[in-house]
Amino acid sequence: MKKVVKFGGSSLADAAQFAKSAGIVRADDTRVYVVPSAPGKRFNGDTKVTDMLYECFELASAGRDFQEPFRKIKDRYGEIIRGLGLNISLDDAFAEIEDRLLNHPEKDYTASRGEYLNGLVMSAYLGFTFIDAAEVVFFNDGGVFDWERTREALSGRLAGTPAAVVPGFYGSRPDGAVQTFSRGGSDITGAIVAGACGASVYENWTDVCGLLMADPRIIGNPEVIRHITYSELRELAYMGATVMHEDTIFPVKKAGIPINIRNTNNPDDPGTWIVENTARRSRFTITGITGRKDFCSIGIAKDFMHTEVGFCKKVVEIFEEFGISIEHLPTGIDTMNVVVQEAKFVDKEQQVLNAISRCVTPDTLEVESGLALISVVGRSMRSQSGTAAKVFSALARARINVRMIDQGASELNIIIGVLNEDFERAISSIYNAFVNKDCDEWE
Ligand code: ASP
Repeated sequence: MKKVVKFGGSSLADAAQFAKSAGIVRADDTRVYVVPSAPGKRFNGDTKVTDMLYECFELASAGRDFQEPFRKIKDRYGEIIRGLGLNISLDDAFAEIEDRLLNHPEKDYTASRGEYLNGLVMSAYLGFTFIDAAEVVFFNDGGVFDWERTREALSGRLAGTPAAVVPGFYGSRPDGAVQTFSRGGSDITGAIVAGACGASVYENWTDVCGLLMADPRIIGNPEVIRHITYSELRELAYMGATVMHEDTIFPVKKAGIPINIRNTNNPDDPGTWIVENTARRSRFTITGITGRKDFCSIGIAKDFMHTEVGFCKKVVEIFEEFGISIEHLPTGIDTMNVVVQEAKFVDKEQQVLNAISRCVTPDTLEVESGLALISVVGRSMRSQSGTAAKVFSALARARINVRMIDQGASELNIIIGVLNEDFERAISSIYNAFVNKDCDEWE
């Protein structure tokens, strides 16, 4: 049994956090591969090391002096090393970074050094082997992550290394140049390492106790989700929930490895388990609620539309032609609604409407903007009656007018369209109905 543990920036922000993280690794001898982020914020208003590195790059590439942020970065690592009582020096590594900044600054190389240096410190502190991610995580010439090549190199290397630290966030291209993932990309490295070594679990240690059932800006102190499937997570992430880095899922999902999100500051909390399948029902029937504002719906009505073969295809093709992605497509016998993101539609609005009028000659064509879509997600909905009734009675009691309903074929979610201004109230009323049982008639 091998576990891969990834620590986020706040878990490695200073010596005290570093020591906590190392304590977590030492507490379980199956935690053998560690993926660190760069030091994050120590307090509100603090700056992440990665942001300071980007600043150094910007200054250096404009030919300006970068010593001030560079010194601050050195100080951050100096404090960590001293605080941990380590007898190592990063002088050579810093000299090389400075030299590259002065002579040929490269954005990704510079940004990646936060993880690289943290990897050196962590490996020294734990006594684990350091594996430079540039030697085992690969992108192709076009900058696309190359899983096959990476898996081969990384699994071979890990097989011969009983305990290692692999810095997150970066890899290299065929020409040797360092390339980073997008921001927050250490999550992806963690998943890659887990996938490559066939880990029993990928632990992602952060500063919260897991995924929340709803946005805490809308619901004060929402419940933590204890178990969620990859598909549910995808639904929640797509509709706006900020969870982990989106691309994180695929290497572990493919290999059937569960992800366990944990809190470094509360290591006894079980956190959230993200799994492929589970027999466990969600605690509250629904797993989570999320949503986004600013959609618009183009309503097309035409008598006997349902007998006109190819009607939907023609409409859909118009949106494709204008490069507008369709979010939802609820239909009636003689009506269809195309729901799209307002921002992607407004500029092309008149051309699109005009094309619809010409192609399918509708009886009426209406546009409604200012719509918010709410997604109520839950694998347990499928097997439980009364879920939809509970959602809609909660909305009715809050006097919220439902403008659209769409239930995915997987019965994993119910999508509800409401006006933008009803968005927060709608989420609260649904959340309260399920979690606080604020909906007597369905109990
Ligand atoms: N340090 C990088 C960032 O701040 C990557 C990460 O933390 O995952 O985006």
